[in-house]
Amino acid sequence: MDYMILVNQSHPLPEDWEKLLQTVTVVNSVGDEVVVEKKTYDAYLLLKKSLEEKDGICLEPDSGLRSIAEQQEIMERFTEKYGAEYARKTVAPPGYSEHHTGLAVDLYYRLKNADGSVRDVYTNEELEEHPDIWAVIHGRLAEFGFILRYPEGKTHITGYQYEPWHIRYLDSAAAAADIMGRPGLTLEEWLAEKGSK
Ligand SMILES: [Zn+2]
Repeated sequence: MDYMILVNQSHPLPEDWEKLLQTVTVVNSVGDEVVVEKKTYDAYLLLKKSLEEKDGICLEPDSGLRSIAEQQEIMERFTEKYGAEYARKTVAPPGYSEHHTGLAVDLYYRLKNADGSVRDVYTNEELEEHPDIWAVIHGRLAEFGFILRYPEGKTHITGYQYEPWHIRYLDSAAAAADIMGRPGLTLEEWLAEKGSK
């Protein structure tokens, strides 16, 4: 399995990928099933443990693997609801979403209230209100082999607006540290530098 795989709006998922993929299925704190590639999930658990112990941030997976068939359904639902133009702008075409790889996870988190109870910080609007918390999370990603996949100001390269919640596993802390050590660098640019894509 090539953990450095590039899937974006001009690089589709390789045909044999779904056949080779080994996954785990978990249920998150809001009761949704999330499927993630096996090694990615192990690394995610280490990241989660570290953030919980050191920062009191309790990560949860919102979305992991989406099959090409599921992406097709999402595209159809969005087209029906919002029109074809909006759907094209916001939903990756089936075959071209990084979520097909199983190596991408969209995160949310739970925070402890003063009285010890826990609340889910779940909607995009709420998640965007806490850049301080994302900064802590992003600061920890590389150690566990993850990168922030869609940094700010790089829509012209990634095809996506800034998504603080979308992380991508590379199975290499060194590669991840190299990318995250240069804020704003994208996987596309890093792979191009290496001459591999
Ligand atoms: Zn995502």
